[in-house]
Amino acid sequence: MPHKPFWEVKALHQMTVREWESLCDGCGLCCLIRFEDEVSGEIIPTRVHCKLFDSAACRCSDYANRRAHVPDCIKLTPYNIEGLQWMPPSCAYRRLHEGKPLPQWHPLITGDPESVHRAGVSVRNQTISEAVLEDEDDALDFTAWDLARDKSEDDPEGGDA
Ligand code: SF4
Ligand code: SF4
Repeated sequence: MPHKPFWEVKALHQMTVREWESLCDGCGLCCLIRFEDEVSGEIIPTRVHCKLFDSAACRCSDYANRRAHVPDCIKLTPYNIEGLQWMPPSCAYRRLHEGKPLPQWHPLITGDPESVHRAGVSVRNQTISEAVLEDEDDALDFTAWDLARDKSEDDPEGGDA
């Protein structure tokens, strides 16, 4: 009988720290500035990233100490994912929480961290820093619906991963 990978047999809260961390595909989408429409509740994504985000590397530049620089950076856990409706639909944590499989471009499936970038899901080299804005609300001038569009199911065969 074929051995099933941990993300198919374990619930999120049963995973080891290492397994949990490996679920992050490195897309960088959760490091973008987002707004919430006060009337509709709709989440408005922008192509403006948190000041600690390294656009070329597509990751946090100081993940271990990030809360010292960005106190409101949220630590994702199996117990708060339910309330984080702004997390991108492609995010592995959200997908598994919703009972969906990992997409074929996920690095855990391809074995290649570049596959998320090749699949066009990541924000690598496509964003600007909030540090260059005069006012946080200026980020609204850089809305990014396409960047944040869920591309999880675009290539179900995983041909381009
Ligand atoms: S959106 Fe999810 S998968 Fe993408 S970087 Fe953030 S935590 Fe990782
Ligand atoms: S502090 Fe780091 S992990 Fe948190 S949003 Fe900013 S870049 Fe992303």
